[in-house]
Amino acid sequence: MKVIVIGGGIGGLCSAIALKRYGIETEVYEAVKEIKPVGAAISIWPNGVKCLNLLGMKEPLRALGGNMRTMAYQDFRRGEVLTRFSLDPLVAQSGERPYPVARAELQVMLLNHYGREKVQFGRRVTQVEQDSQGVIARFEDGSEARGDLLIACDGTHSVVRSSVLERPVERRYAGYVNWNGLVECDEAIAPADQWTTFVGEGKRVSLMPVAGNRFYFFFDVPLPAGLAEDRTSLRDDLSRYFSGWAQPVQTLIERIDPQTTNRIEIHDIDPFSPLVKGRIALLGDAAHSTTPDIGQGGCAAMEDAVVLADALQSHPLDAEAALRHYQQQRVDRVKDLVLKARKRCDVTHGKEMAVTQQWYEELKTETGERIMNGMCETIQGGPLA
Ligand code: FAD
Repeated sequence: MKVIVIGGGIGGLCSAIALKRYGIETEVYEAVKEIKPVGAAISIWPNGVKCLNLLGMKEPLRALGGNMRTMAYQDFRRGEVLTRFSLDPLVAQSGERPYPVARAELQVMLLNHYGREKVQFGRRVTQVEQDSQGVIARFEDGSEARGDLLIACDGTHSVVRSSVLERPVERRYAGYVNWNGLVECDEAIAPADQWTTFVGEGKRVSLMPVAGNRFYFFFDVPLPAGLAEDRTSLRDDLSRYFSGWAQPVQTLIERIDPQTTNRIEIHDIDPFSPLVKGRIALLGDAAHSTTPDIGQGGCAAMEDAVVLADALQSHPLDAEAALRHYQQQRVDRVKDLVLKARKRCDVTHGKEMAVTQQWYEELKTETGERIMNGMCETIQGGPLA
């Protein structure tokens, strides 16, 4: 069997690695010549970590992961700690540590593990076709590839999605802008082994440690879409939005490099099905686009990859049945993740300010138990729980 994988991001490379483990032949086609991932870093929660462990990347992942031992929320204005707790109970309950990692390094790890030379860069798919014999992917340069199955891992703007769904889907603006990047750790900003989040006014400023003595930082601000803001105005924009916030936030704004800071208007897509049609399956953001509010989009792509490979392994004689099995295993799980993230997004970003205010109040009495129970429930819904 030969499987054509479209997209060389987290979903595409994890799928190719997972299929290779079972000896299934894969060809990976990536649109761009050099992948520049959106976002500076990503938190891989234990459900994703277990998938990467299974795919043989246990040790390299640990080398990239930040040492995140505690979690804290702090008041936006005075910086006082609202709650601070150890993440050890989460690790004990879920059986793995969470690993925040720089995205570019994660991408290199995945490419090296699959084999960079086996990825065909600069091959943008424009059209896919299938019949009872197999699939054809047609590329922008006029070339084509043939295989038995096609796995579309071409991200949130997927071109393959409409041929599975037979209708277009709209991305939904989630109502806030996220700026993110990497900066050297400094205790004047936050402890180097802590996930620290300053909250207030429906906004947040967050720092997570990644390897190499760096923080992954992000700022979220509820804003209309389409504002004329770019790198040239970035520091002024953040200083304005976070005027009056605590000193560590001001220090962070002074330290960041606008040239390497990303500005992203956050979107998701209403959960949809089918994820599969005949010999074509959607995977990762092509199949489920979520806001990053529970940090699960990439982890879900890793889960998809593991489940897909298992489905093909367990239905060796009927590839279409394998894809149907994959869909059946994933459709409720990914719907749940998208809707959970959307709910969290609304509370965090002041969709109804009274609800957000109540959450700020609850943080003052939070022992960590409620927050970690919520995270564990999400994590344990994964296929390797
Ligand atoms: P992508 O990463 O988008 O990769 C798709 C690939 O397909 C790209 O390389 C693209 O060039 C290629 N491609 C596109 N079109 C074509 C085509 N026509 N032909 C060939 N190739 C094509 N997730 C987490 O798990 N934890 C987090 O902490 C987290 N934080 C996030 C923070 C932000 C600000 C954002 C925006 C997202 C975050 N996510 C997080 C989500 C995560 O980034 C995505 O879910 C993940 O990158 C999806 O991987 P993918 O491979 O499906 O898609």
